[in-house]
Amino acid sequence: MHRTRLAPSPTGALHLGNARTFLANWALARQQGWHIILRIEDLDGPRVKAGASDEAVDVLRWLGIDWDAGPVTQRSDLAPYRAALERLAGQGDIYPCRCTRKEIEAAALSAPHGDEHELRYPGTCRPVEPTPLPPAALDEPGVAWRLRVPDGATAFVDHIAGAHRHDIAATTGDFLVATKEGLPSYQLAVVVDDARQAIDRIVRGDDLLGSTHRQLLLQQRLGIEPPPEYYHLPLVLGEDGRRLAKRHGDSRISHYRAQGVAAERIIALIAEWCGLGEREKLSAKEFAGEFDLAAIPRTPITFNPATP
Ligand code: GLU
Repeated sequence: MHRTRLAPSPTGALHLGNARTFLANWALARQQGWHIILRIEDLDGPRVKAGASDEAVDVLRWLGIDWDAGPVTQRSDLAPYRAALERLAGQGDIYPCRCTRKEIEAAALSAPHGDEHELRYPGTCRPVEPTPLPPAALDEPGVAWRLRVPDGATAFVDHIAGAHRHDIAATTGDFLVATKEGLPSYQLAVVVDDARQAIDRIVRGDDLLGSTHRQLLLQQRLGIEPPPEYYHLPLVLGEDGRRLAKRHGDSRISHYRAQGVAAERIIALIAEWCGLGEREKLSAKEFAGEFDLAAIPRTPITFNPATP
């Protein structure tokens, strides 16, 4: 049986864009008979907000989404991340980085196609030759770790976005696998979790297409195969063409709920964004019955704050 995951980050309240991803993921899984794990991605350090994980679970339930296992948190078992880092260190694939954010900003050329907040790491701490290191090297406090990224573009075929090429070295460069606080980075955590939970079907927003190339590279270095299959949904954008965020008005599900908007109304709007036509109301079950990958618009959806 194929396996997928719903992976909310408890860094803020779920908004319409997140809800769309989770509903599409859930509907596809229920249609195809995939096993669903709810994974709370609670490693995102200072950005994790108290109560946000309970709220995410509550909102998913309110929308009519269910799952077969979990919720599982990442913090509950850190040993597999450490094992992965030890393997990468022993292979000479990662190296310690002592640069401050300021130093990286000063030295980096801004990434030509990178994510909004990402800078290309200029390679300041990269050893000339790959240098295998013993596990104890990872114990040095206050040091971050980066993966040596090979030059050149990589490609994979996404079920929605089609063939996708990306040059990691030219965009983010050698990226973080562990932070100065001693925690795995998002890229490493997600690869280790997907492997340990045997996830082979990943559905998420297409803001993570670039990340997927980094994750495929990490999977190769860690001997994880075959890679999962990916479904990246076009993002929901604000009217200014930027990724849906607070500045576009309050699109949190909790906000609509407090105003008495029914879950079926929210789902009807999401169905429209999935190319299923306009309706006043739709239940999660009806949505799952109608959901069709081929109908998903291949271009970004624009959110109008007045809609629901
Ligand atoms: N936790 C991530 C998010 O909420 C999703 C990560 C993933 O799907 O790999 O954006």
